[in-house]
Amino acid sequence: MPTPLARSARKKLSVAEVSQIARPTLGAEMPVALFRVLRLIAMEDLLGRSAASLLYNAGEKIGLTLDVRTPADLVELVRALKIGEAEIVTATAEQIIVDVHECVTCAGLTPVGYPLCHFEAGLVAGGLQTILGGNLFVKETRCIGGLGDPVCRMEAQIKTRN
Ligand SMILES: [Zn+2]
Repeated sequence: MPTPLARSARKKLSVAEVSQIARPTLGAEMPVALFRVLRLIAMEDLLGRSAASLLYNAGEKIGLTLDVRTPADLVELVRALKIGEAEIVTATAEQIIVDVHECVTCAGLTPVGYPLCHFEAGLVAGGLQTILGGNLFVKETRCIGGLGDPVCRMEAQIKTRN
């Protein structure tokens, strides 16, 4: 049984480190269904009502470590990681809206009646905070598999400092 000290002393892996993949036969990709089993079944079961906020926080933490300098960089990264086909719909001083087509978490699901893509929303939030500095919150206002929308829409309201 590891002690709390041993657990906290455990090395934390970075995105770059976990991206080192040696699978000469099977390659670097896996079925989307496997990701969804982990994300939409296992994590929801284990985390219960906390799933939404914990997944958002996880995405945000990762987003804060990303090497992105512009919203276009973030969109490109979302595409490169095959999270979805991202597109910037609005970018003003007050608001940034990113649409995600073909979302890895939810595209194709029979709509469940509530938004599902908390990890993705957090990732966009963290990425935008890396780019813009400061604090912002991203709300998923449309969701393909959650609400039956054509896209997952991530809306960031930017607090202007007076
Ligand atoms: Zn969604």
